[in-house]
Formats: sequence, structure tokens, C-alpha cells
Amino acid sequence: MSLRSAWPRGNVAAALVVTAVVALALYSMGRRPWCQCSTLSPWSWDIWSMHNSQHLLDPYTFTHVLHGVLYYALLWVIFRSRWPAFRALLAVTIEAAWEVAENTNAVIESYRESTISLNYYGDSIVNSVADVVAFALGYTAAMWLPVWASALGFLGVETLLLLTIRDSLLLNILMLLHPIDAIKAWQIGG
Ligand SMILES: [Zn+2]
Repeated sequence: MSLRSAWPRGNVAAALVVTAVVALALYSMGRRPWCQCSTLSPWSWDIWSMHNSQHLLDPYTFTHVLHGVLYYALLWVIFRSRWPAFRALLAVTIEAAWEVAENTNAVIESYRESTISLNYYGDSIVNSVADVVAFALGYTAAMWLPVWASALGFLGVETLLLLTIRDSLLLNILMLLHPIDAIKAWQIGG
């Protein structure tokens, strides 16, 4: 599928507006714009540090790329090849809403209780915006790539995350829905 069919200019503009709304919503909810450490490092790879989900990029940025791949698959199943521009914007809008929901105080509390994110106090606004962008890239990549390449890429990133940070998108979803003590112990034992 051509890039333009999913991302005509008006759609890109609309996606940027949606992303700006995310930033404003997070700001109004009291999320801080950037890491409280105030250093300008664009990334942070240690998920146990206070810098996680606070700088531009971190290991969880890649889980948002995977969100994009999953949403593409899901929306393709629902709508098939119809309305590519609508599907792309719908995907970004759902992800944007998720990013806001994920940073409400109630969900932050739930994360801290049930997953390994013990020092998690919500994403910084810059990190959230980068996550939405990472999502759009993942979605667009899935649109472009053959299905086998998307599937292989998805499994590759999941595996890499499990090996490096003992967490991944699928594990994160599992632990949020149904925490398992043995897995939590393995994750903390890193
Ligand atoms: Zn920091």
C-alpha cells in the first residue's frame, strides 16, 4: 500500500493535532514535561532508574512501535483494505487516548502495584509524545512490510526486550491483566 493512501497531507495534519491534544491533556493532568533530572540526554536505557519513561526514548518506546504493528493487523481484520486514511487516523487516535488513560493517576497506581514499575509516576510529556510517534512509525511499517516481515520483526523486538530488560509488550499486558508472582520475581531478580 502506498504511503500517501494512509497518510495524505490532511491526515498527517490531523494526527499532529491529535498528538498536540495528548500533550495538552497530559500537561493539564500534572505530568511533567521532561525528566526531573533535567539533563538533556535524549534517551535512558535503564528501566530501573528514575529516568525511565521520562526522556525521549527508552526500551518501552519499542513496545509502542509494536502497538502500531498490532493495531494495523487488528484494523485490517476489521476493515480489510478499505479506508486506509481513516484506519491510520483511527489507530493514532486510539493510541493517543490510551497514552492519556495510561497516565491517569488510577492507572499509574495500578501499574506500580502489579508490575515491576515500582518507581513509576507516569510518563513525561515528551516521552508520551515520542511514544505516539513511535506508534505511528510501527503502524506505517506494518502497512508497508509483508506480513511475515512484520511478524518476524514483532517477535524479534519482543525477544530482544525480554533478554535485555526482562519485560516486553505481551508480558506487560499479561502482568497488568493477571499478575504472576513467579514472573515478577524473575523480572526483579535481574
Ligand atoms: Zn533523567
